[in-house]
Amino acid sequence: MGISRILIANRGEIALRIHRAAHEMGIETVAVHSTADADAMHVRLADHAVCIGPPAASESYLNHAAIISAAEITGADAIHPGYGFLSENAKFADIVEAHDIAWIGPKPEHIRTMGDKVQAKKTAGALGLPLVPGSDGAVSDFDEMKRVAKEIGYPVLAKAAAGGGGRGMKVIPSEDQLESLVKQAMNEAKSAFGDDTMYLEKYLGNPRHIEFQVFGDGRGNAIHLGERDCSLQRRHQKVFEEAPSPVITHEDRMRMGGIVADAMAAMEYRGAGTIEFLWENGEFYFIEMNTRLQVEHPVTEAITGLDLVREQIRIADGKDLSVKQEDIEFKGHAIECRINAEDPFTFAPSPGKIDYYHQAGGMHVRVDSGLYAGYTIPPYYDSMIAKLIVYGRTREGCLMRLRRALEEMVISGVKTSIPLHQELLKQPDVISGDYTIKWLEEWLAEREAGTE
Ligand code: ADP
Repeated sequence: MGISRILIANRGEIALRIHRAAHEMGIETVAVHSTADADAMHVRLADHAVCIGPPAASESYLNHAAIISAAEITGADAIHPGYGFLSENAKFADIVEAHDIAWIGPKPEHIRTMGDKVQAKKTAGALGLPLVPGSDGAVSDFDEMKRVAKEIGYPVLAKAAAGGGGRGMKVIPSEDQLESLVKQAMNEAKSAFGDDTMYLEKYLGNPRHIEFQVFGDGRGNAIHLGERDCSLQRRHQKVFEEAPSPVITHEDRMRMGGIVADAMAAMEYRGAGTIEFLWENGEFYFIEMNTRLQVEHPVTEAITGLDLVREQIRIADGKDLSVKQEDIEFKGHAIECRINAEDPFTFAPSPGKIDYYHQAGGMHVRVDSGLYAGYTIPPYYDSMIAKLIVYGRTREGCLMRLRRALEEMVISGVKTSIPLHQELLKQPDVISGDYTIKWLEEWLAEREAGTE
């Protein structure tokens, strides 16, 4: 025991984030990178770097054999997968553990269970989490689907068991459209995931997306770190996240948080996890669990003062959770803006060379990014290039500071989402926290139609 060298199987800001936590713990890092990322910041800062393949992620960041070889060559004793890429790949987690390398993530069996949404819902229901009303598991027969849909009431949502990123999902307004829409969802699921197993859920009209951060030690102890509100979304992609949620009372936080922590303890869950709920009219409805660190984890760090990556590494090293539930204090308010290299309003990707970069600073301002002047953003990967995380004692103070920080931030040479965030922060609904998962797309549509 005793992790001393972590291989970071990721790139971009999250690779840098992991490197920083490791070095603060006195642990060495190994960066793996594609040929397109040879000049990336995390590669420059890591103690060791190994090129694992060409730009295509399938041949580099998703290449099991190349990553395991890199770990063996450099003597890494742990692998942190970050988010995306291999982070929720149970088979890869199995391989890592079979090589006697610590997997900084949940037990592979839990990744597997939660990766299948039908299984995940069954497990969550059995552990006492409130579910969205829907079919009892997978349904394949159209008559059966019609019967279930009638029972839960239209509109219903057809979802793929293997789904992710909003794919393989279709809203069904009425019975006459069920067959054709489910067939479309099945085709989408088949081509995206190679699995067209479907289930049905009540389609909630106007919910918020509220998720709870949990941690387990793998031996039956678990805690929750409160919720994040990620309702500002476009095409199911989060744009802006905050903690705490403007609508959740402390009582509800501790009640629901207690339920999720108990569920994780009962599973003997290990490491970081996020339990996602839709929230409507004061009720929580479980939709899925992510068995990894989330992009938006820093807002939780800001209001709890805990380093979640450090916690993940400790747990993978067999240590206890560093805090007890009763020691966790929720203080102040934090918001994260995701900054992408794309047109702020058409969302067309805008990779290219950064000719000038100035990072926002000052009290309670954090920027997680691998950017520097002269860096060229490769076109092959996700467009997120930076996260701006701002803390304030109150939500209002946090919003003021966020406006100030966005003003200071300069990224020139490519288009970015900074102007989108600046406009969002002028909207009364955003200022008051009165938004749902539909808000952003509706606002964008109105803005485009010029009726703003
Ligand atoms: P994925 O894994 O594909 O991201 P999720 O189950 O997490 O799928 O759902 C993604 C998003 O789809 C949610 O954040 C929400 O915006 C919407 N959604 C999912 N289930 C429902 C539902 N039952 N009613 C309304 N919207 C839903």
